[in-house]
Amino acid sequence: MRILISALAVLAITACEPTYVVPSSASGASLPATAAPAANRTVAQGTALLFQVAQRVEPIAESACQQETGRGGDFCDFHIQVEAGDQPNAYQSYANGRPILTFNHAMLRTIRNENEVAFILSHEAGHHIAGHLQRKQQQTGLGALAGALIVAGLGGDPQAGSDLGGAFGGRAYSQNFELEADVLGTYIAERAGYDPVDGAASFARFAGSSSLLATHPPGTQRYSTVVATARLIAAQRAQGITPTIPRN
Ligand SMILES: [Zn+2]
Repeated sequence: MRILISALAVLAITACEPTYVVPSSASGASLPATAAPAANRTVAQGTALLFQVAQRVEPIAESACQQETGRGGDFCDFHIQVEAGDQPNAYQSYANGRPILTFNHAMLRTIRNENEVAFILSHEAGHHIAGHLQRKQQQTGLGALAGALIVAGLGGDPQAGSDLGGAFGGRAYSQNFELEADVLGTYIAERAGYDPVDGAASFARFAGSSSLLATHPPGTQRYSTVVATARLIAAQRAQGITPTIPRN
């Protein structure tokens, strides 16, 4: 039993360390109505818009990455790419030592305007800067360990416990990661000269998407986080302070 408690304690401790401050989402901001129809561009038009916005966002994301991680070179040199897909999706990955930001065709066709492109690019870059891929792996591993120990301790199949615990560990923290990426994304998009609050209005459209729902917090919570972060930035700018991304 002692080892079970230790495993759970490790899980609980590591779960409580987001790197960046996520403001209280009690800003009272409510999502804009979803009435605005999504654009219906060709993939070529959407791709042109993506790369036009990326010209401004990528250098800002790259310097934020260097500043926040203390690393340079390929590690912060974002590669932007497009892939096929019927359901709107964008994600961050890492290959050959470089961070990759991918938009799929459905996303490019339906994205509303350049603020949305900028915010989503910035959000995905935020995942990389905050090290979410690695941290999620750690959480999944710890969850699997705790699950295996608990189920084995109860006389069950450790593999079943490991699978369950891993799924729980990976999922439980992904919602925090989304909010953290939203905070970073708000700073990056604002620095690049875009309106992150308008960009985050896409949450109203994606709120009903089951593929995103599984790992993403409710759209209203994410939108409120962006609104609260944008207010902080505006207040600092009004005082002549250069906004810095708030670390824990
Ligand atoms: Zn995300």
